[in-house]
Amino acid sequence: MSYCYSIEIDRCKGCGLCVAVCPKKVLEISNEVNIKGYFPAYQARPDDCIRCAICCTMCPDVAISITEVAEDTEC
Ligand code: SF4
Ligand code: SF4
Repeated sequence: MSYCYSIEIDRCKGCGLCVAVCPKKVLEISNEVNIKGYFPAYQARPDDCIRCAICCTMCPDVAISITEVAEDTEC
């Protein structure tokens, strides 16, 4: 099995909670605004992600998801 990690950019309000709690420092805040005018989080270092899901749990806007998918699935 592999996993797809996604941040729904237009749900994100750029609060930075996920950035702060990530134990691997994977996340950063983008320089580009989303549809709501916020600077959203993104995975700056995706290869370092251990899929602990702490960011998903912390996000008050439920913008982050990690989904188990079949091997070789395009995310
Ligand atoms: S799943 Fe864990 S390691 Fe990956 S970005 Fe979220 S908090 Fe960081
Ligand atoms: S915790 Fe959620 S709303 Fe806040 S920056 Fe991260 S993804 Fe965006």
